Amino acid sequence: MGEAVFMPGTGNGLDILEAEILKSRYLREGEEDWEDVCERVAKAIASTPEEYVEFLNLMVSKIFVPSSPTIMNAGTVSGQLSACFVIPVEDSIEEIFDSLKTAALIQKTGGGTGFNFSNIRPDGSPSVSGVGTASGPVALIRLFNEATEIVKQFGRRRGANMGILDISHDDVNPFIRAKREEGKLSNFNISVMVPDSFMRLVEQGNMDEIWNAKTGAKVGEIFSEIVEGIWRNGEPGILFYDRINRDNFTPALGDISATNPCGEEPLLPFESCNLGSINLSLIVEDGKVNWDSLRETAGKAVRFLDNEIDINVYPVPEIEEATGKTRKIGLGIMGFHDMLLKLGLPYDSTEALGLAEKIMEQVTYSAVRMSRKLAAEKGTFPEYENSIWELPIRNATLTAIAPTGTISILAGCSAGIEPVFSWVYRRARITGNEFMLVHPLFEAHFKPKLPESSYDRLLEHIYTRGTLQDITDPEIVDEEEKKLFRSALDIDWKTHIDIQAAFQRHCHAGISKTINMPQKARKDDIGKALVYAWMQGLKGLTIYRTESRQRVVLSLKSPV
Ligand code: ADP
Repeated sequence: MGEAVFMPGTGNGLDILEAEILKSRYLREGEEDWEDVCERVAKAIASTPEEYVEFLNLMVSKIFVPSSPTIMNAGTVSGQLSACFVIPVEDSIEEIFDSLKTAALIQKTGGGTGFNFSNIRPDGSPSVSGVGTASGPVALIRLFNEATEIVKQFGRRRGANMGILDISHDDVNPFIRAKREEGKLSNFNISVMVPDSFMRLVEQGNMDEIWNAKTGAKVGEIFSEIVEGIWRNGEPGILFYDRINRDNFTPALGDISATNPCGEEPLLPFESCNLGSINLSLIVEDGKVNWDSLRETAGKAVRFLDNEIDINVYPVPEIEEATGKTRKIGLGIMGFHDMLLKLGLPYDSTEALGLAEKIMEQVTYSAVRMSRKLAAEKGTFPEYENSIWELPIRNATLTAIAPTGTISILAGCSAGIEPVFSWVYRRARITGNEFMLVHPLFEAHFKPKLPESSYDRLLEHIYTRGTLQDITDPEIVDEEEKKLFRSALDIDWKTHIDIQAAFQRHCHAGISKTINMPQKARKDDIGKALVYAWMQGLKGLTIYRTESRQRVVLSLKSPV
């Protein structure tokens, strides 16, 4: 394994990483740089020369970047542009293997698949034929996990799944434990779907109440299993069923019981959704938010994403049909923490919370405006009459906040709405090389201010300790700087949740975010965080306690 080499005084490494990603993931034959990629994508998605210029500018400037499948596949033979899919899984051999096949076809093109396995009868129940017994949802997830393992050889990225089980399912405890052993089901994120009625019992402390009459499982037993799992290695995630379905804009088409792998898109069976994100870092001009630019970019991005629905090549006819009925798109944002740094606002400040809410309000407002305009031009989504929208609109839902794991690196900004993980860190190898990375806004602030040797010592300190909060010399880092340069692990879990909640208030779909906790966090903290997140109106959450898992993508000095 190539050890990360830290060379004091050399650049921040971001450009190397960006070039690596571009080459390994996005460049197609004959393409040499980002502009070539943008030309291919804009040409495929634009329906007029004016749109071509508009889309090209959005992408070249990196103020808006569509998600990976669009960048990889637009204008190519594949033509599959969506990142998010939900596939139903029914309780018969035929249907199970149909779902598996559909998932494989999606993963081959770089899309992520989510499934709710609750219709699968529990482990040990009699099979339909009366011969033998059913093997239950956990065994099925193993099968789906293996299939992803095979398909990965055919695609440009490894494939990702979300496996969901309702908390009322008899097998919920084995499901919660399914990933406890490190390395198990590594192609799956798992989440428990929890209704308000369960959370209310937890909140009121009714832990002895029987939740599942058949298995006799009590509320407290199941909740403790969840907390234990999260404390040990960050899984399962939680999805709040009632909150998700309060934002179901087409309830006549059925309830929503699943999301895509990272949780930002709750979707109906067979729906898919294409994503794209606005780079907030570029919305700051002269130390101020340029609200006009934000609104204008959001409008153009909606046109871009809506066009995609019509040229998208769907893996199977059911997906084309379901997606065509509601025309959901997922416009999101990235670079929120970079925006705050440019504005001089700490991530954990009241101003940041207020700004988060206002940004998402403006993005969603502008998106809705454009979607109404598009409805007037081209028609509403076909199921509009069956929806809860009161004025004609072209897309049943418009906004979602994705992790932007790869595209934020391409755009050179902080990911999604996450705080910067560390000012100095290395990233696990992507294509064989490792890099030391220094956050560019950190570099821009400290490098000119400090003598070279002090700057290098500061980097070394952060690389070893993961923080600058314990530096005592005010000449190096003063109190103001300590407040501004708090990174993910310096920020308490409550603030992480508050920020997610602020964005969620004006977001149609969901938000992908990790609630970081320090290694010393107790199980009790995790329980409290789950209840707090539910009360704040999150649609779901993922908690990760530092160093509770060996293999993580972003790491301080942990082995990769
Ligand atoms: P990107 O930055 O590459 O555009 P994100 O990190 O924002 O992607 O993820 C967006 C969505 O794309 C995820 O929620 C998931 O549905 C899908 N996705 C992400 N990574 C993968 C992967 N390796 N394989 C399949 N789908 C993925």
